[in-house]
Amino acid sequence: MNALQGKTAVVTGGTSGIGLATARLFAAEGARVFVTGRRKDVLDAAVAEIGGDVTGVQVDSSDLADLERLYETVGGPIDVLFANAGGGEFLTLEQVTEKHFDDTFGTNVKGTLFTVKKALPLLVDGASVILTASTAGTKGNEAFGVYGASKAAVRSFARTWAQELSGRGIRVNSISPGPVDTPGISGLVGGGEAAVQLTSALASTVPLGRMGRPEEIASVALFLATDASSFVTGAELFADGGANQV
Ligand code: NAD
Repeated sequence: MNALQGKTAVVTGGTSGIGLATARLFAAEGARVFVTGRRKDVLDAAVAEIGGDVTGVQVDSSDLADLERLYETVGGPIDVLFANAGGGEFLTLEQVTEKHFDDTFGTNVKGTLFTVKKALPLLVDGASVILTASTAGTKGNEAFGVYGASKAAVRSFARTWAQELSGRGIRVNSISPGPVDTPGISGLVGGGEAAVQLTSALASTVPLGRMGRPEEIASVALFLATDASSFVTGAELFADGGANQV
């Protein structure tokens, strides 16, 4: 339980779902962890739940001043950066609005871009940068076009930055989760019975026949965070129960 002993990790969107599970795992593996979230009460609850050496920083990833404050708070070398904050909404082409586009790209694309760019001075040589993309960035998904386009951009960022940062030995990879059972997914349909139906519908699209658990993405992030993946960069890891293959 000390794969990240002595390391500093930043996990954005660490108050819920995949980010929360990853922050918990990184802390359990001995890392000093900084987690971000937008709401102070939710952030405080997550910090208390994660335990270990964890610091919460209230950040909206689409806000550059917030990101600068995040890295001022970290104030020292970063070994692992998990740029995970993101989200979406189900809207068809007929339904999409400019605000929906700006919000989705603001967090998923601009937020991911500047989360990594503003970290550059602090990233140690040999650091691991991990981006959360999605199978939606590869496959078509009805009413998820803007989200899918934003995650396609994230996949592209990882491939490009892997090349640009290779001179410093910094590895950059993306994880594309398939459907994972998180508050973010149930929130897409407002929770309740609609969420139960969505979960069941999503599970039926997965060859393994179920949704993933946040911990099953966290363990992939841990692999990418450690030297176990020391020759892996520019890769896209699909943690999706086989969903990308069908
Ligand atoms: P979640 O809603 O449970 O958690 C998302 C986290 O990101 C929360 O902590 C939230 O506060 C944070 N966040 C969202 N927008 C933010 C912003 N502008 N600034 C700062 N923080 C912000 O969702 P999740 O399902 O755990 O999703 C985590 C990541 O995984 C997202 O990037 C999402 O797109 C991606 N993803 C999720 C699934 C899935 O099925 N759950 C599948 C593929 C990809």
